[in-house]
Amino acid sequence: MKVCSQCYAIFDGRKWDGNRKVPKKKLAELETTLCTACKRMRDKVALGTVYLDGEVITSRADEILRMVRREEEIERARNYSSRILDIRRRGQKMTVRTVNSLLAIHIAKQFKKAFKGRIEIFKDTPGHMPRNKQSEGTVAVKWTQNP
Ligand SMILES: [Zn+2]
Repeated sequence: MKVCSQCYAIFDGRKWDGNRKVPKKKLAELETTLCTACKRMRDKVALGTVYLDGEVITSRADEILRMVRREEEIERARNYSSRILDIRRRGQKMTVRTVNSLLAIHIAKQFKKAFKGRIEIFKDTPGHMPRNKQSEGTVAVKWTQNP
């Protein structure tokens, strides 16, 4: 077993698990390394990108940010690699880059649920990373409030 030095996810030789609890004493004996998700954070590798476009981005800016962060929290409890890399805002457009592709889709769906509009999902978008070893492709999701 190995432990991630950043987020304390545990690697059992097959996969990383962020929710596994290991006694502190035992943690100290494990070999430390960086997990896949923390490596992607460090190298700024995003498998998911969400493009948000709508007047709520400016009119309800605080609420929007909270919503995005809460979605990250919920998803991360289920999958340790569901993390936000960065959030950029320009006028009524916002771009959220995520470490895994799943979180990007969840965030966009949350916007559709809250503010209607339309989402489009583009898988394995050109210009993004090619498929990695775990065959987790890249995804770009577009949400438009007034399509
Ligand atoms: Zn980690």
